Amino acid sequence: MKYLSVIKTLLLAALSGLFFFTGCSSDQSPDLIITNAHIVTVDESLPEAEAIALRDGIIIAVGDAATIEAMAGRRTEVKDAQGRLITPGFIDAHAHFWGVGSLRLQLDLLGKPSWQSIVDAVAAAVDQAEPGDLIVGRGWHQNDWHEAPARMVGDLPHHEKLSAVSPQNPVILTHASGHMTFANAYAMAQLGITAETPDPAGGEIVRELNGSPAGPFRQRASNLLAPLRNTWEPDMAQVVRMAEREALSLGITTFGDAGTPVHHIREMMRVHEQDPLQVRLHLMVRDRTDVMTEALPELAGAIAGDPYFRVSGIKRAIDGALGTHGAWMLEPYADNPGTAGFNTTPLETIREAGELALEHGLQLAVHAIGDRGNREALDLYEALFEEHGVYGPYLRWRIEHAQNLHPDDVPRFRELGVVAAMQGVHATSDGPWVARRISEARAQRGAYIWRTLLENDVVIINGTDAPVERLNPMHSFHSSVTRLMPTGDIFFGEQVMTREEALRSYTLDSAYGIFRENDLGSLTPGKFADLVIWSGDFMRDDTDTIRDILPLTTIVGGRVVYTAP
Ligand SMILES: [Zn+2]
Repeated sequence: MKYLSVIKTLLLAALSGLFFFTGCSSDQSPDLIITNAHIVTVDESLPEAEAIALRDGIIIAVGDAATIEAMAGRRTEVKDAQGRLITPGFIDAHAHFWGVGSLRLQLDLLGKPSWQSIVDAVAAAVDQAEPGDLIVGRGWHQNDWHEAPARMVGDLPHHEKLSAVSPQNPVILTHASGHMTFANAYAMAQLGITAETPDPAGGEIVRELNGSPAGPFRQRASNLLAPLRNTWEPDMAQVVRMAEREALSLGITTFGDAGTPVHHIREMMRVHEQDPLQVRLHLMVRDRTDVMTEALPELAGAIAGDPYFRVSGIKRAIDGALGTHGAWMLEPYADNPGTAGFNTTPLETIREAGELALEHGLQLAVHAIGDRGNREALDLYEALFEEHGVYGPYLRWRIEHAQNLHPDDVPRFRELGVVAAMQGVHATSDGPWVARRISEARAQRGAYIWRTLLENDVVIINGTDAPVERLNPMHSFHSSVTRLMPTGDIFFGEQVMTREEALRSYTLDSAYGIFRENDLGSLTPGKFADLVIWSGDFMRDDTDTIRDILPLTTIVGGRVVYTAP
C-alpha cells in the first residue's frame, strides 16, 4: 500500500511537471462548460448541440447537456446559457483594421443624412481646432442624403459651403467607399491644386465648367491629396485597441484585414508584441511592389505560426466602386453611357503582386467589382497558374467583392479555385440604385449573385468591408438571408442565402478563405474555443429582429474577451 501511494505521488508529480511545461493543469476536467444553449456548430458531423466544454483555449467536447455536464470537475465553471444561441465566432473576411480603429479617432460621417449635416460636423471640429490644423473625416455618401446639397456638380456637392466654415483649416473627407475624397478650398490651395492641375491616370478631379476643382477627387485623383492626408497619423496602439474592442463587442473573433501598408503592419506587430491581441488578425499587405519585395521575407518569417497575428495575402485593386462609376464594366453604364468605368491598377502591377504571392506562399486578393474587372482578374489568375504550373484550387486566391459577374465567368471561380469574398450588406446598401446604374437586366443577371455562385460550388466568404459599412456582422447576415433594402424592397430575392449558408459563409468558409478551417470556423473538438453567446437567435427568430441581435459574451481562445454591459 505504502509503495503504491509513493508511486502514485511520483506519477502525479511527473504528470504535473509534464503539464506544467504544456501549460495545462493536472486536472483533466474542463475549465468552462456552457450548457442549456442552442448551439449551432457549423460542423456537419453534429450540426446542433446543447452544451460545450472548453479547456486550455480549446474546444474539448460538444454534445447534449447531460453528457457534457457529467464532465465537470472541481475546477470547472459551469455557465447556464438560458437557451441562448451560441455560434462559432464570426470571421469578417474583408474589413479594414486600421480604418475601423482610426474611424473612432476622426470625424465619423457614416450614415450622415445630408451634406449640411456634414458641413455642420466640420464646423464643430473647426471650432475645436487651431487655425491650420488638418481636419479629417470619413464615411460620407451622397446616397444617404435625404436632401440635395444647395450647389452641386453632377450628383456631388460643390465645396463652397464646406470651405465657408473652414477658411483657415484644410479639410479632407474620405467617401464611405474609400474610392473618392473631398477637399475644401484651403486644402486645395495648400497643395497647389488648381484648374490647371491635370487628371492623373485612373482618376478624375471633379470640376466646374470653367475647370476649377469642385471638391471631389475620384479614384486615383485622391492621391493628389495624400501629401496632406498622410500627415494625419493617429497613434497605432490606440487604433489597434479601438478596432479590437469594436470587433470583439460585435462577435468578430477573427478580423480579415483587406489591405495594409508595410509600415502599418510593422507598427501593429510591435503593438501585438507589447500587449498581445485578443482578436485574431489576418492581414493582407498592400504596398508598392518594391516595398513588398523587400519586406515580405521578414514579415512572413516573423509571424509564421502565431495564432493571433498573420500576414496571409497580398491585396490589389483592379477597378473602383459602382457608386462612383469606377467599377470596370463590360458594357457602358446605363446612367452614364460615356463610361464603362476603369482599370485602376495596371494589370502588369497586379501580375507582379501575383508573382510575389506565389514566391511567398501568400494568397493574391484582387478587388474587382465590375464584370470586366472580374473577368480580367480571372484571366490573370488563369495565366499565372498555367505559367507556373500550379493547381489553382490549392492556392485559394480570392476576388474581393465580385459584385457584378458575367454568367460565363461564374464556373471559372470553381475551376480556378477562386474564393469570392463578398459582403452581404453591400447588396442591400447599393441595391436601390444598382439597376439604374447598370440596367435591370444586367443587375438581375450578375449583381451579388450568391445563389448562383453557391449552386456552382463557389466558396463565398462574408464580411462588411468596414469602415465602408459598419462592422456589425448582423447587418451582413440579415442582408444575406433577406436582401431587404432600407427602402423596404427586396433586391432580387431569388439570390438569398439560407441562414445555414450565411452562417457558414461568415465562419467555416471565411476560415477556409484564410487557410484556417483546421483550427477555426466551427465548434468542433480540437479547434480553438472562439465562440459567441448571442442576445437573440438569428437562426430561428423572425428576420425582422436580426439586425438588433448583439453578443452577450465573446470568447476567444477560451478566454472571455467581451461581456455586454
Ligand atoms: Zn475593402
